[in-house]
Amino acid sequence: MSGSSASAAEAAPAETHRTEGGDTGGSMVGNWTASLTLPPLLDERFVRCPLNAIPLMAIWLPGRVNEPFAASMLGTGIIDAHVHLYPAEVAADPAAWAARMGEPLWGALVTPHPARRVKQGWADHERLLRDMDAAGIERSILLGWYWQRQETCSWHNRYYASCVRAHPDRLSAFATVQAAAGPQAIAEMERCRDEGFIGLGELCPWQTAHSPLDPHWLAVFEHAVRLGWPVNLHVTDPVSHAFPGRVDTPLESIIRLAETLPNLPLILAHWGGGLPFHEWHPRARRALRHAYYDTAATPLLYDPAIYAAARAAIGGERVLFGSDYPLLVFPATQTEPNLAQVLNHACQPGLDADTRAAMLGANARKLLRLSPST
Ligand SMILES: [Zn+2]
Repeated sequence: MSGSSASAAEAAPAETHRTEGGDTGGSMVGNWTASLTLPPLLDERFVRCPLNAIPLMAIWLPGRVNEPFAASMLGTGIIDAHVHLYPAEVAADPAAWAARMGEPLWGALVTPHPARRVKQGWADHERLLRDMDAAGIERSILLGWYWQRQETCSWHNRYYASCVRAHPDRLSAFATVQAAAGPQAIAEMERCRDEGFIGLGELCPWQTAHSPLDPHWLAVFEHAVRLGWPVNLHVTDPVSHAFPGRVDTPLESIIRLAETLPNLPLILAHWGGGLPFHEWHPRARRALRHAYYDTAATPLLYDPAIYAAARAAIGGERVLFGSDYPLLVFPATQTEPNLAQVLNHACQPGLDADTRAAMLGANARKLLRLSPST
């Protein structure tokens, strides 16, 4: 998640390993090719050839995607599978809001702290839509947060329902619940299903000293299977730095969850804390063969070589592009959320075009059963 994902993120400085196409700030001035974001679906040699600058500039108004060109991408465009939004009332004073809502863990994550280099950014759905347009992203999947209280989960779900109702062509949403609420959590899932939600997450059962294998969490996950919902779990890399609010998410417990509920479609956020590279082990490979990984907060967490390395470890069909927007995942240079910059980072030269296209849209479209008219 964002501020939250701060949680994912808090960690390490991948920024020192910048490669071509990385932290450009999205400027069209200077290194213009690096600021191109949609071309992931175009051939890279074409995009980077200076002779093609003029035709590409013609479809690429500075900082924005030409609308006819964007329209031609409908149904094949880029999907951001990991976005968090908060209404303006939260962004105005997050710490006070968290105290009022009884959410101290989230409050600790979004409050600046000297031991945490990641910074939270804020955006409502109108800001998100502008940034999606600028980056050439067709659809965003809004993820909830792992709130401590079911009341906060329900509040967040209603906010997302209103966002999706306003822009069903651009936004989809996952619901969030607090499993400790028991039947209320299940009832909330039913309500969200009726409102058009398409999954569950981002969840983190470990945050409140529970395991995803505890009976109340298993009941939630079993209901997700009944609804046909994928479940996005926040996962922390066990080697990441300590920081205030960090949640340990033992990787073996995720394998046990996958073994216990083999029909539960899992999306393991932040590259599953490194789980793709455990899939060389036969037990993990067998248990996680249907699991997806999202790329949320990659610029903050990992060397950009992770895209090609994950392709080598698990293939190209189980990775979903996720920005963790509006988290500031380039904290050394970023003061405002910037989707184009994150998307550029995902377009690493070492990744083949088919895998990149799958990661940026096709895999999510298949998993979430999204159609052009969805
Ligand atoms: Zn997260």
